[in-house]
Amino acid sequence: MQTGFNLDNNKTISNKNTSYRNFPMVPRVIFGKGSFSQLGDILMPKRRNADAPFIFLVDDFFENQSLAHDIPLLFNDELIFVSADEEPKTYQVDALVARIRERFDEKPSGIVGIGGGTLLDLAKAVAIMLNNEGLAQEYQGWDLVGKPSIYHVGVPTISGTGAEVSRTTVLLGPEKKLGINSDYTTFDQVIMDPDLTCTVPKEQWFYTGMDCFIHCIESLNGTYLNAFSQSYGEKALELCKEVFLDDCSGEESRDKLMMASWHGGMSIAYSQVGIAHAMSYGLSYLLGIKHGIGNCLVFQHLEEFYPEGVDLFNQMIAKHDIQMPRGVCADLSQSDYDTMVQVALGMDPLWENALGKEWRNIMTAERLQTLYSRI
Ligand code: NAD
Ligand code: ZN
Repeated sequence: MQTGFNLDNNKTISNKNTSYRNFPMVPRVIFGKGSFSQLGDILMPKRRNADAPFIFLVDDFFENQSLAHDIPLLFNDELIFVSADEEPKTYQVDALVARIRERFDEKPSGIVGIGGGTLLDLAKAVAIMLNNEGLAQEYQGWDLVGKPSIYHVGVPTISGTGAEVSRTTVLLGPEKKLGINSDYTTFDQVIMDPDLTCTVPKEQWFYTGMDCFIHCIESLNGTYLNAFSQSYGEKALELCKEVFLDDCSGEESRDKLMMASWHGGMSIAYSQVGIAHAMSYGLSYLLGIKHGIGNCLVFQHLEEFYPEGVDLFNQMIAKHDIQMPRGVCADLSQSDYDTMVQVALGMDPLWENALGKEWRNIMTAERLQTLYSRI
């Protein structure tokens, strides 16, 4: 079994032979209440001709919502609603690409992903695969994409994952769960309209928001920390505290969490996440538990590693009266535990970031199983 982490930090940057990573960033971004209404104007100059459509991949939550009517469809553009109930799969990407190729003689002018991390990742992957041969699973890994993706735009509708800024798209394939990490994955344009997050249910808001909070804690407490990551991580953490602990609500809260997500993503882009993410990956692999809630299920038990972070987390859980599931690992067999432990321990850079180069002496399989058994 091969696994890999979703964020693109598998290379250390602090040894003698350092070769500093040269990251692409999102070149164009627009932020602000109501900014979604500018999407049509933004896409217009990117339309090659009337036969080269824009394909809009939209979270199916919006199927009967006003946003669906505000999508600037023109000519033969296509709107495809996609469920975010499950995390994205490589075969789903291949099916979307096949459908687009079959339906249109011309390559699309671009792909627009509208939704949470699930839809943003799907949009990135489809944009890559429309310009590259073969199956999506062949590109899971680091820097395997040969040709630039087609123009792609990300419109987040929930804040926290940082998928809007990252250079990866996390996919579950037949053999592994691993991102397509490449310079061509990053969006060409992002539109951050906090109004689009108005409808997010409270628990989902909390779990996806905590993904950002945990990015900050793991980045700021990691051995890979550097001035770049720290500056973004501190800002994101400050915003998370305001959103989840102060009496911040409504428009102000939505604005701040959207900015926190962006800054948290920037922070880990240049450092790494840590123990909660490594363990959450095991939960996701074995039990299909989604990223945000998986991180929370783990993080509550990590007080020995992140004492201040867990203290803040407990205050946030209490303030928002979030009832997390209990007994998630109660009925697992030894072989289930072995699988989760193996997946989690396969995330070398995350452990090294969290515990240092000697991490294997600190986090043994037994210790990890004990941590899992508390969930
Ligand atoms: P999501 O996209 O999985 O959506 C979660 C739920 O929220 C879904 O039911 C969705 O329909 C709903 N939803 C989204 N926007 C809504 C809105 N405005 N109103 C009402 N409901 C709404 O959520 P997520 O937590 O943003 O994303 C998780 C995914 O992101 C995972 O697949 C994870 O692997 C991925 N991820 C990617 C990166 C990256 O860098 N590429 C980083 C972290 C996580
Ligand atoms: Zn995360």
